[in-house]
Amino acid sequence: MLQLVNVGHKSLGDYATLASRGLMDEIRRLAEPLQGKRVAHVSATAFGGGVAEINYTLVPLMVDAGLDVEWRIIRGAEDFFNVTKSIHNALQGDPRSLTTEEQAIFRRYNELNAAEFPADDYDFVIIHDPQPIAIIDSFPDRGTRWIWRGHIDFSTPNAEVMAFLLPSLRRYDDAIFHMHEYLPSADGLPEAVIWPPAIDPLTPKNMALSPEDASYILDQFGIDVERPLLCQVSRFDPWKDPLGVIDAYRAVKQRIPQVQLALVGSMAHDDPEGWEYYNRTLEHAADDPDIFVLSNMNNVGAVEVNAFQVHSSVVIQKSIKEGFGLTVTEALWKARPTVAGRVGGIVAQITDGETGWLVDSSAECAQACIEILRDPAEARTRALKGKEHVRRHFLTPRLLRDWLVLFNRLAGNETGGSTITVVR
Ligand code: UDP
Repeated sequence: MLQLVNVGHKSLGDYATLASRGLMDEIRRLAEPLQGKRVAHVSATAFGGGVAEINYTLVPLMVDAGLDVEWRIIRGAEDFFNVTKSIHNALQGDPRSLTTEEQAIFRRYNELNAAEFPADDYDFVIIHDPQPIAIIDSFPDRGTRWIWRGHIDFSTPNAEVMAFLLPSLRRYDDAIFHMHEYLPSADGLPEAVIWPPAIDPLTPKNMALSPEDASYILDQFGIDVERPLLCQVSRFDPWKDPLGVIDAYRAVKQRIPQVQLALVGSMAHDDPEGWEYYNRTLEHAADDPDIFVLSNMNNVGAVEVNAFQVHSSVVIQKSIKEGFGLTVTEALWKARPTVAGRVGGIVAQITDGETGWLVDSSAECAQACIEILRDPAEARTRALKGKEHVRRHFLTPRLLRDWLVLFNRLAGNETGGSTITVVR
């Protein structure tokens, strides 16, 4: 049996004052016809990255709403995760395709995982991202409804790699994307549904943390809490552009010499490339004593990420490609001035000049940081608007509501007006 993730318990009632009353009532109404339905989430890792972040909250809240929900992790060795990382990069546009051997490795691990997964026991199976997408191929006759949740942008993929995945994707009942623009252009796709992810305002990463507590935590990492800090929280991945962040920091430092930079990035176990990029980041930092490159290896867990986001004068997310960018959601929720790449889901979160700063280069990123450090009052006004935007659109109760709407739709239950966007 695939490994089960222990997500603990969460109570919907705790979110009542953070979400609107109407939304909580809607969740209860939508959950009514779904009581006891069996749901399995399947993903590649329970640690690091957005999917893990979402499921640790979404799964226990689905349980609290009355559904019978499990989250299971597929098995894979390094050869498999090397292939899935290539697939991930190719879907973001990397021209390198898969060799025949790599395709065989991908299929073999999906078959092995399928053999350990009694899919027919569930009413709904939710497969996250491409790594386990082909498990469905082992279940040709089925009563279970299969939903695939893509967490990145599929609009400009490497065509060969996309074509390799399409036969599996076509078998699903529904495919969910963050944004309309992210749909792959291909024939025969399942019905597509659009909704963005969300953050949990009550987790240790996002709960209110006093400035004093945040400073205390950062002080322990050697940060000078009296001097301004720029920070990016991200996996060490070329698409997150940590090297570009260092370039921006260097440009800021020429004008504001006391500035410091923290690059905080966890190492997901399905990301072998992470170490290589971590080392490249360290090299690029070139022993600058004001650059702090930290990871979970330095004990940076959820509370510490929270502290870095709360304390930073500027939170940067200089992505070149981005699925959604939960780190941006997290920073905005903490009312931090946020400077981010004008890409992907970041654009749905930040309106340039209103709720934050959107940038297209390291030079623009530096310019925005300088503006923020020189005029913190104006920066705060934007940041507060950003927080309200997140409150309305990107907190977990809304995400739970969207899932319940879809389950009802797939179960043929009449639940009144639909709040989700169905594309085809
Ligand atoms: N994250 C973390 N520690 C780190 C780096 C990232 O906890 O060192 C979390 C981050 O706070 C966010 C998630 O991982 O919740 C990353 O999600 P995002 O959508 O920004 O990017 P992804 O990694 O999914 O591409």
